[in-house]
Amino acid sequence: MSAWRTSGTTPLDRLKSQYDRNLRCGECGYVDEEGEWQARMTGDRVDYRHLCPSCGAVEHRTLELR
Ligand SMILES: [Zn+2]
Repeated sequence: MSAWRTSGTTPLDRLKSQYDRNLRCGECGYVDEEGEWQARMTGDRVDYRHLCPSCGAVEHRTLELR
């Protein structure tokens, strides 16, 4: 009775790809098409960081996995 799926896509991956589509700097408005969020899991949270290549500002998001 194995209900384990091997789709290769975790909820974290889906959240990440969601953010990857929205890499717009909150400071200067630069859209980083090639960039990606760096995700770090902390307990039941995920911290996302993105460094703007245009102005150097760091975008930060936190998601709670529940
Ligand atoms: Zn910027």
